Parts: sequence; structure tokens; C-alpha cells
Amino acid sequence: MAVLPIYVLGSPVLRQETTPVTTITPELLKLADDMFDTMHAAQGVGLAAPQVGRSERLAVVEVEHERHVLFNPEIVFEEGELRWEEGCLSIPEVYGDVYRAARVVVRAMGRNGKTFEIEGQELLGVCLQHEIDHLHGKLFIDHLSFLKKRKALAAWDEEKGQYPDLLRIITPGSIHDDGHDDSERL
Ligand SMILES: [Zn+2]
Repeated sequence: MAVLPIYVLGSPVLRQETTPVTTITPELLKLADDMFDTMHAAQGVGLAAPQVGRSERLAVVEVEHERHVLFNPEIVFEEGELRWEEGCLSIPEVYGDVYRAARVVVRAMGRNGKTFEIEGQELLGVCLQHEIDHLHGKLFIDHLSFLKKRKALAAWDEEKGQYPDLLRIITPGSIHDDGHDDSERL
């Protein structure tokens, strides 16, 4: 179990397509465990492998104390629309309203290698969509209108000096209250 450095906006790995996982190895299960540790340390509810510098198609999500490990997740059904204020562990302190599907069904492979489906609405639905985006090099700011994206990037300009190597090292005390809650950090 380990808290990993989080790659922040500007890191090329966040913009790369991931590689589907064909074999679930002990190393990948350890990675998933470390991703949960990292996500908890950063007070988020979801994390995708590129955010810790990895290229595997893997994301972890924990909403209402239910943990989900998702290998190769894909949306197989979606309906409706909702607006959610989102942030991202890779773009700390920056938030914006994103329109997402109100309900999604996601198919993925679990820790045991078996395919399963998970349905999500509200926070779980938003989180699944946000993490799947990460696995295809997409970030929540890409969903913002031109003006809102410009505003978000200006806010990031103020923040990014704290991450000279584009790495965010989570240490006890490095997390402070930014007026948002965990349900917005994805
Ligand atoms: Zn994110």
C-alpha cells in the first residue's frame, strides 16, 4: 500500500490513450490498491491510471463506501443530462460545471477478471464518466464552454507553480480545505 505522486495538468500522460488490460497481474492489483490509497489521501472519489503516470486502462472509484476496480470500463448505455460541479485530482483547486449523462451503465472487468456491469447516477454516474474520460486522454475542462475553460485555465495558471515537476506529492498536511467537498474531486 502506497500513496503515489499524482500527475497534474501539463503532464503528457494525461492526454494519452490507455492500453486495454488483457491479463490482471498481481502487480496491477497492487496498483489498484495504491490508487485507492492515493485517492483517499487526496480526498477524492475516483482516480484513473494516467493520473499516477500509468498507461493501463484502469480506474478506481469509491462512492458511498462502495469500492469499484474497473479494468477496461466502457459506457454501454446512457440517458438524460445533469450538471455537476467537477474538479480533478490532477487539476487541484480548479472547478467547473460539466454537463454529463444523468444515468450510465458501464461494463468493465473486475479484480477477479470477470466482466460486470455497474449503473451510476448522480455522483457515481458523474465519477464513472469522468474516470472513463481520463482513460481516453480527456479532462473535465474539455467539456467546459470556451469562456469557462479559459477561466479554469487562468485559475490553473495561479496554481501550477506549486507543481514545478508536474507532480503532486500528497503528504499529511498538504491537503487543505478549499471550500469544496470530496464529491467534486474526481
Ligand atoms: Zn480527474
